[in-house]
Amino acid sequence: MLKVDEIDVYYDNIHALKGVSLEVLAGEIVTLIGANGAGKSTLLKTLSGLLRPKTGRIDYFGQSITNKPVQSIVQSGISHVPEGRRVFANMTVAENLDLGAYIRKDKKAIEEDKQAVYALFPRLLERKKQLAGTLSGGEQQMLAIGRALMAKPKLLLLDEPSMGLAPLLVKQIFQIIQEINQNGTTILLVEQNANMALSIANRAYVIETGNVVASGTAKELQSSERIKQAYLGGM
Ligand code: ATP
Repeated sequence: MLKVDEIDVYYDNIHALKGVSLEVLAGEIVTLIGANGAGKSTLLKTLSGLLRPKTGRIDYFGQSITNKPVQSIVQSGISHVPEGRRVFANMTVAENLDLGAYIRKDKKAIEEDKQAVYALFPRLLERKKQLAGTLSGGEQQMLAIGRALMAKPKLLLLDEPSMGLAPLLVKQIFQIIQEINQNGTTILLVEQNANMALSIANRAYVIETGNVVASGTAKELQSSERIKQAYLGGM
């Protein structure tokens, strides 16, 4: 579904991604783990067209999206939930969800998808008229994911969905990510919570200072001594 081939991404003279290659197959949950500043967010921003690779190539369903504008990438079915759950604080929950569907014109299907988001996140239904800025952190994360789903993505890019959430909520969010995947959406998940991420992923890539340093099935990485020491709390 997605093939990233040797991309280099810079912020001025900071070389943030150094020849990164990876692949995501349809139906998978793939996770990208790595420390602060490793380049995980940079990779997601590059996939959604917010940043441009200087070299390398990104293919999606066999066609290059390497230098496509953000809008056309969204239209082709890639939706990005950025780090820090950016919701429109002065708009209601329902209005935020409507905005997620801005690229679509199929009114009836949009309404059905909104109901599906409410079924996935009953909390959002209870609060549909509430201003997004007054939601709790966990609820804002749910809304940010719900809004991305309103674009009907084939590939959902999730940046640190568990950040700053209490353990019980983290568990809930991860269960919902699995449910979204079971409903047919492929997922590329960036996480610092490597234990949780590997517990739901099919495969994973480990990024260190802009390089992919390890990859494999989630099971392989969970049992690697080096990965255990560096990312899984030595367990
Ligand atoms: P985190 O979890 O902290 O977001 P990350 O793995 O997502 O970490 P990135 O945010 O992708 O890391 O950052 C990769 C590198 O690029 C870091 O060295 C960071 O300082 C640098 N960087 C990120 N954004 C910018 C920017 N807007 N301008 C300059 N450098 C940046």
